Amino acid sequence: MTKINMTRFPDMARRNSFVFDFDSTLVTIETLDTLLKSCLSDDGTRRRIDDITARAMNGEMDFDASLSERLRLAKVKAAHFARMAGEIADFVTPGMDGVMDFLRRKDQELFIVSGGFTEIVRPVAGLFGVPEGHCFANDYITGADGFVTGVRAENPLAHEGGKQRVLRALREENRLPGTVVMLGDGMSDYGVYADGLAGFFIGCGFSAVRPGVKAAAPVFMETAAELLSLLETLLD
Ligand SMILES: [Mg+2]
Repeated sequence: MTKINMTRFPDMARRNSFVFDFDSTLVTIETLDTLLKSCLSDDGTRRRIDDITARAMNGEMDFDASLSERLRLAKVKAAHFARMAGEIADFVTPGMDGVMDFLRRKDQELFIVSGGFTEIVRPVAGLFGVPEGHCFANDYITGADGFVTGVRAENPLAHEGGKQRVLRALREENRLPGTVVMLGDGMSDYGVYADGLAGFFIGCGFSAVRPGVKAAAPVFMETAAELLSLLETLLD
């Protein structure tokens, strides 16, 4: 367990709001990457998609455009999403069921906010007892030919800073009791805390350790078991 400044941790005697990222946090995979790979028939297309992913990550291409281009190249159909939704329970992060059970028993409020896809997030939310109205993710759109062409652009999560926009809206609707605790592996998760929309951040290196997140996070957990024992220490 790394540096923990307990004085900054939320008052766990109260009801707080725990906001979880999805990819590489609640599940061990990046669902979009896994989905695209499962659709690819040849190495050439795979390389072109990797190229676009790299350009998007380097900020040379915006998220929306890079996503549409990758979905088009991989010839993704709604049936691929349905298949993945049926298999996603197999990819739940080991030990995370214990974390969610514990938080539910302690009457904490649970949310999932993801740049991934609603259809794939929902089955996992169901396993963890997170209500549908507490799950926020993207919805794909299909063209007349049945191929998936992109995501609904009106959804804030389709854009940079989307998680901040979702949390700001929840806060304005008074739906976030106590301290907002953001948990995730990515810089976009840390950004929610850095921008003041969460009062605390727990970096999650369960499946992917991002060095920037590890360095910046007030608390960084390597496993879900480690996270559970931290929460138990604070709540019992
Ligand atoms: Mg993630």
